[in-house]
Amino acid sequence: MSSRQAYRDLLDKLVKLDVGQYTFDVPLSSYNSWQIGGPADLLIEPGRADQVAAVVRFASQFRIPLVVIGQGTNLLFDDAGLRGVVLKLGENFSAVTIEENRITAESGAWVPGLARKAMLAGLAGLEHTIGIPGTVGGLVLMNGGSQRKGIGENVRRVEVVNREGRMLALNREECAFSYRRSALQGTGAVVVRVELECERRDPRRIRHLMLDDLRERRRKFPRKEPNCGSVFLSTSEMHASVGPPGKVIEEAALKGVRIGDAEISHQHANFIVNHGSASSGDVLALIAHVRHVVNSRIGFDLCCEVRYVSPEGVIMPAHQAGP
Ligand SMILES: Cc1cc2nc3c(=O)[nH]c(=O)nc-3n(C[C@H](O)[C@H](O)[C@H](O)COP(=O)(O)OP(=O)(O)OC[C@H]3O[C@@H](n4cnc5c(N)ncnc54)[C@H](O)[C@@H]3O)c2cc1C
Repeated sequence: MSSRQAYRDLLDKLVKLDVGQYTFDVPLSSYNSWQIGGPADLLIEPGRADQVAAVVRFASQFRIPLVVIGQGTNLLFDDAGLRGVVLKLGENFSAVTIEENRITAESGAWVPGLARKAMLAGLAGLEHTIGIPGTVGGLVLMNGGSQRKGIGENVRRVEVVNREGRMLALNREECAFSYRRSALQGTGAVVVRVELECERRDPRRIRHLMLDDLRERRRKFPRKEPNCGSVFLSTSEMHASVGPPGKVIEEAALKGVRIGDAEISHQHANFIVNHGSASSGDVLALIAHVRHVVNSRIGFDLCCEVRYVSPEGVIMPAHQAGP
């Protein structure tokens, strides 16, 4: 039997366990906001934490590459796709409960929906997340948020399935949140549930802040073409020394520079938009070009917020992938 056939047999064995919905040979371009990426061998959408654990255990036992995704709004998949399994935590795993000032959300919950529920319950603290189009799991892993605030500030507890498939609960300190970072990154842990702590405030005041945030996004960000939000990280050290990446890239006259169908947005220079058939290579080449020009101009190394997923299932900041 060929090793390819043995691998296919393993995937068949995996889906016969109770793992949730599954599809073989899915186009990854349908599972990320850049709409880029070739086929993945198998995509599983679990509906329960024990199903997540079963997939993680199996993948770890048989050394099958496993990539966890939410809405894919911070991911660049390769045109060659993925020789492994995508574990998508989304709609099937998105229950939200609110008790007093605490919100418990399954990791597939959609962030703007969660922020809206918090607002209606008069719970403040998530206003900055109203326009972030990802899931709670992706948000916590990335410690996503605004320039000033990350979701970590409101996290009380995170339940994860670790690399061995065991459930663990971590408190905020153990997650070690910092700007767009958490201790969960690179550990293989899958976030399954998050408990958030908020403050009580008048829902009208919260709504007002959310509408301001959405208005600002509509004004600043490209809305029509597929994109992945901010490509480069904007740390406070960077702000203090050279300014935010959008400004630095714009001052380097890179707005509108295009490789293949990938282009530095005319509207916001920290966005790369897909004009229809951009490849992962186009985006990586554009990222490398921007970094080269900026470094030659001001001696600063831009680092990516966006993460690249290799065909072998390795996830890394996109600038580390190379064109
Ligand atoms: C238009 C636009 C605007 C954006 N604005 C913002 C913004 O203001 N602030 C901001 O911080 N981000 C922003 N983003 C980026 C992105 O939405 C966030 O990083 C978001 O939190 C990612 O969630 P996701 O579900 O899409 O994660 P994905 O892109 O699917 O995954 C991101 C990372 O998280 C991991 N991951 C996902 N789910 C889990 C899980 N359950 N357990 C373990 N690991 C997991 C993935 O493996 C990957 O490494 C924006 C993106 C777009 C397209």
